[in-house]
Amino acid sequence: MQMSLPRFGSSSMLSLESAKQQLCDVAALAYDRRLLDSAGGNFSQRHGERILCTPRYSGSKRLWRLRPEEIIVLETDGTVLEGEGETSREIRMHLALYNAFPKTGGVCHAHPLNVLVFANMRKPIPPTSEQTEKYGIIPLAEEVPAHSEALAFAALKALEPQQEKLAKHAIACLLPYHGITVAGRDLLDAYDALERLDGSCHILIARATLDLAQERKKE
Ligand SMILES: [Zn+2]
Repeated sequence: MQMSLPRFGSSSMLSLESAKQQLCDVAALAYDRRLLDSAGGNFSQRHGERILCTPRYSGSKRLWRLRPEEIIVLETDGTVLEGEGETSREIRMHLALYNAFPKTGGVCHAHPLNVLVFANMRKPIPPTSEQTEKYGIIPLAEEVPAHSEALAFAALKALEPQQEKLAKHAIACLLPYHGITVAGRDLLDAYDALERLDGSCHILIARATLDLAQERKKE
């Protein structure tokens, strides 16, 4: 009897085709949960010596419904090996993280609905529950234009002091006026942190609203 291949898991456990499919599935889920938007973002994961990344225009032209053939397969030096469509302009940031922090197995760069409020306010994200305590305060990276080479350096610089934590869980930095970048031990680890941190932002926004309502009541 033929064993069925695992559909989700650490990329090292998956075949190349399953790893591509996982990237498509996780990105579609993130879009449905408003962690990704049509304006952009990009998810990637390491597969052996290679990096798999979502293509450019995944949001605006494909609404995050990707086919495995569209996933771009690259060497860690940026050489494209296969994949339909164009390489994302943010690939430099992903490759910089994989090369600088060898424990990185998955990267999520996204513009989640609640995180965007903190990105807009240029405000670090504190933990809000036992579920986010381990991430500590998510720091702000230097504010530089999207798609620039400077963005890769800015993310790298903001994540560098946290790199030891990658042995246990994902690390993240807020990109001011833009979004967030999460590096995890694998794609699911990075996705998990992305969702928890967006949840934290939601809690903080809701709390601020309730606190204000309570203050007004006292007046
Ligand atoms: Zn972006």
